[in-house]
Amino acid sequence: RFPGKLGAVKAKIHRPLDGTIKTVTVSKCPSGKYYASVLMEYEADYPKSSTLRKVIGVDLGLVDFAVTYDGEKTSKYPNPKHLSKHEKNLAKKQRIAARKTKGSNRRKKAMKTVARRYERVSNVRQDYLHKLSRKIVDNNQVVVVENLNVKGMVRNHKLAKAISDTGWGTFVNFLSYKLERSGGKLIEIDRWFPSSKLCSNCHYQIPELPLDVRQWTCSHCGTHHDRDGNAAINIRAEGIRMLSSSGTGEAYANGEEVRPNRGRKSKVRHSSVKLEAPTIASARVGVVHTQITSGNPE
Ligand SMILES: [Zn+2]
Repeated sequence: RFPGKLGAVKAKIHRPLDGTIKTVTVSKCPSGKYYASVLMEYEADYPKSSTLRKVIGVDLGLVDFAVTYDGEKTSKYPNPKHLSKHEKNLAKKQRIAARKTKGSNRRKKAMKTVARRYERVSNVRQDYLHKLSRKIVDNNQVVVVENLNVKGMVRNHKLAKAISDTGWGTFVNFLSYKLERSGGKLIEIDRWFPSSKLCSNCHYQIPELPLDVRQWTCSHCGTHHDRDGNAAINIRAEGIRMLSSSGTGEAYANGEEVRPNRGRKSKVRHSSVKLEAPTIASARVGVVHTQITSGNPE
């Protein structure tokens, strides 16, 4: 229920509104749908556990979306292929819209179609990121990622499109809040840590490793490496090192046991809810998140 003219509004809620609601911000999308961004405060007992904690290293890439190493096995998660189909469709709709006369009703209608398509692409991507982050958090208590400074990297035009499409930032965000709620921990290691150039076997650092080299052999110990698998191993090891040297008594590693944050903690976090536009009876349902719903069609 909103104050004033708006009154009661139907909403699709994508995440439980289980905290204390602080503020609600409503915005309208180019496609004519409405979104409400809800700021909630939580006060919760985080799970306490003394069982063995699993630590996983995650290397985010462009060839595979993510390569992980959890101390036992390496897993590769490719970029979702079905996305490219949706993206082609989006590009086609954009071309059609561009041909219509500026200011005409036809153009407006076509632009709306483009906006809907764009939302669908975002939703497919988000769905993938939600599932993958859920899987990782369900099976591990500590997740180590590189601090990517994605914004800085996106300024590099060559990589820009690929990176904004893969949604690294959104993914790390998803990992972060899911871990928080399960009592786990996200560790971000320095973005200048040479995760790819270190031999995970003997720690020899090779001077250079161009982006297109997917496999290499360590000249020092002779170990043959898959580029991203090796990086995931190094990222995990660096995360464990950081935990054990943090000196907060919070964690210790090498026995590879890490304790989660404990006790009562108050957290503020953004959640997003899609509202049905009053004029559109059959507003489509999708997973939304503040970061992407505010985007304009490309
Ligand atoms: Zn080596």
